Parts: sequence; C-alpha cells; structure tokens
Amino acid sequence: MRVVPDSVVNLTGHGIGPAGHELAPGEDRTWIGTGQFERLLDAVVGRADVRITFDDGNASDVDIALPRLLERGLVAEFFVLVGLLNAPGRLDSDGVRELRRAGMAVGSHGWAHRDWRRLDAAQADEEIARANGELGELIGEPVTRVAIPYGSYDGRVLRRLRYARVTQAYTSDGGRARPGSWLQARNSARHDLDAAWISCVLGGTAPLATRARRVAVRTIKRFRR
Ligand SMILES: [Zn+2]
Repeated sequence: MRVVPDSVVNLTGHGIGPAGHELAPGEDRTWIGTGQFERLLDAVVGRADVRITFDDGNASDVDIALPRLLERGLVAEFFVLVGLLNAPGRLDSDGVRELRRAGMAVGSHGWAHRDWRRLDAAQADEEIARANGELGELIGEPVTRVAIPYGSYDGRVLRRLRYARVTQAYTSDGGRARPGSWLQARNSARHDLDAAWISCVLGGTAPLATRARRVAVRTIKRFRR
C-alpha cells in the first residue's frame, strides 16, 4: 500500500525553454530554462510528497516537459487555458490528449487567463463552467480540478468554484499543503530558480515567520471581498 504523506509540496511550472508566443507583462518572471527545469525534476525523483503541476497550457508542456517527466518516471497535472488551445505557442487539442494518454492529469486554468476576482457573471460562466465542460469533452472525462489564474481568489471566487462542483482548487500561496485539502497551495518556479530555491522549497525549511505569514495571507484571501 502506498503511504500518503501528511503534507505535500505542490510545484507549479509555466513556460519552459524558448517562448513560442509573445509573453504577457510579468510572464517572463515565471518562464524557466530547460536546464533549470531538468535540475528541478531531478530533485523531485523519489519524493512521494512532491507534486508537479503546470499552468497556462504552453506548447512546452508537451514539447519539453512531457518527455523529461516520462524519462524520470514522474507524473504531473497540467492546467490548461481552454480558450487559448490551438493558439500559436500554446498546446493544441492533440497535445492535451497526448498528455492524458501518457498518464498525466489534465485540469482547467480557465478560459482566457482573466483575474477571477474581476469577472462579471457571463465571464465567470465562461471561465469555470464552459472551460471545464469543453475540456472534459476534449479528454473524454469530467474536469473537476482547477488552478486559479494568478492565484487570485476571494470568498466569492471560492463560492463559484464550489457551486460548479470543483473538487480541488490550486492556488499560488506557497508552502506545503495537506494532500486531501480542497484548496491546494503551490510554489511557482521562477526565472531565477536555483539550487538554493529547490532545497528551500522541497526541504520545507522556510523560516517560521514566513510560514506564519502564509497562513495569515491565506486566511485573508479566503474571507476578503
Ligand atoms: Zn496562469
């Protein structure tokens, strides 16, 4: 029987290697090199308490991430932007199915990479219900897990996700998470990713003050309006 760890470290990757589309402002801060990505994966091998996720549905998910995950016997969950599928430099429909066939999990990162705290009702429907529905049709199974764009949420966003029967929502709050929690904090790989970052995040050696601050931030986000 596989032992379920008490807590897990969720990692988030975005684009890797050469960018295949024009980057949005700030997107370069989470874009990493192929060598950085390989070093991160090497550190994850054998760690049952580390989970790997990808956001944004870049073409590098299939072109760069997938073969390197498979080489190392790792699995990951890919949260794709459903409204941007088949756009230049992004995943296409075949790529999404290829990820699934290779044993990877696929979830939704919404429709058009909007800030979910600033949606009107029609946009909220597109970002959550339509995105989950169309992605589910593409992969032939229900999509019930989402990654919140920019990690931007409040009480209303969480209520909308619960109403849409989302079973797990991934944020970008940092730190470790309990494996079964509905809200899953993640740690985003950044452009300056190095050995020190890897050992800090995977080792869970964040100072007590940092951990206390994360708990406070999560509490505020959950209840703010
Ligand atoms: Zn994103």
